[in-house]
Amino acid sequence: MPIYEYHCQDCQADFELIRSMGEADAETACSHCQGTNIKRKLSLFNASSSGRALTGNSSCSGCSGGSCSTCGPH
Ligand SMILES: [Zn+2]
Repeated sequence: MPIYEYHCQDCQADFELIRSMGEADAETACSHCQGTNIKRKLSLFNASSSGRALTGNSSCSGCSGGSCSTCGPH
């Protein structure tokens, strides 16, 4: 299930919720002040998965050692 990031416009807190896509824009309450003046930020789903791919990018599909031209120097 995707993780969505929300921003509370009352206390300026950012928090994340794991929700189904259908609930992404459903109303929620701030986990800090319980306010409902919440704005959804861009989904972290793609960002976090590509971030993991980057940190685990010791090799690419073109080699197994992480040292081909596709990998670049590390
Ligand atoms: Zn808040």
